[in-house]
Amino acid sequence: MDFESYNPVSTLKVDEHLVKRAKFPFIDIHNHQWNMSGNDLQSLITDMDKLNMGVMNNLSGSSGDNLKNSVNNIRARYPKRFTVFANIDFDGIGTAGWTENEVKQLAIDVSNGASGLKIFKNLGFSVRDNKGQRVPVDDARLDAIWDKCGELKIPVLIHTADPKSFWDPMDANNERWLELESHPGRKRSDTDPEPFEQLIEEQHHMFRKHPKTTFIAAHFGWLPNDLQRLGKLLDELPNVMVEFGAVIAELGRQPRAAAAFFNKYQDRILFGKDSWVPEEYATYFRVLETKDEYFPYHKKYHAFWRMYGLGLSDEILKKVYYKNALRILPHLDKSQFPN
Ligand SMILES: [Zn+2]
Repeated sequence: MDFESYNPVSTLKVDEHLVKRAKFPFIDIHNHQWNMSGNDLQSLITDMDKLNMGVMNNLSGSSGDNLKNSVNNIRARYPKRFTVFANIDFDGIGTAGWTENEVKQLAIDVSNGASGLKIFKNLGFSVRDNKGQRVPVDDARLDAIWDKCGELKIPVLIHTADPKSFWDPMDANNERWLELESHPGRKRSDTDPEPFEQLIEEQHHMFRKHPKTTFIAAHFGWLPNDLQRLGKLLDELPNVMVEFGAVIAELGRQPRAAAAFFNKYQDRILFGKDSWVPEEYATYFRVLETKDEYFPYHKKYHAFWRMYGLGLSDEILKKVYYKNALRILPHLDKSQFPN
């Protein structure tokens, strides 16, 4: 028998609270939908209602006509239930006028109804300028874009780098060995493209350079397994928020430290999930809401360990589920959320 097939049934008998529906309506800040313009949105609404998801934020909003058509479709069908973030087209960065054009396009996208800007992890990894050079996350040619977001009062949700273990040797000591074994394309090294630490520092430098812009570091800034360091970042930079898409298993394995983090930074955390698999939300609700013990995550390659509930208070849950998002996102109807 090998590690992947070893999956013993727990003999532990403790109370179980399976939570298929969130205790309060929530806003999922980190979702991806690729066909929001030619879609009646009905099946999404049916699934969202079952979960008690009040608003789905689609980060894959594109820009120009694509974005406009999505927003118009939403406004015609379910204006209160969806928001859309715009994206930047990095093609041509370095050529004359690129920055000015992107700033102009972003302003148009926001006037067409975009609620924020999403930056994918290709910035820092694979985006290259017109001379073939890697574009760092804190590149000066992007400064005017971040400043424009501050001026337009829209947040920037940014995914930079990946779990640190992807850079570590793929051996018996690597916590993400199973993920690298099953997804070989995810392996990184110090030269492919750059060290983990450098990418993270580029992102933090960019946050520091633009104090008037609100940034949401996706996936807890890939520091969910180092909450002390993430806390220091949040202490230093009041313009930074975090969301926990795809990293709930990191929080569920440190319930005391994570609950203390949620208590201290209760105004800085947003609910995010990332991949749209409705059945998987129950894992998130269970970690956040219950005090259950030693329960499994839904993907062994993310977490071969078991988790424990944080048992957050109603006050903190409401902030994480919707109050923090209502504070930083435009175009949201507050009436569908309790006080
Ligand atoms: Zn994502």
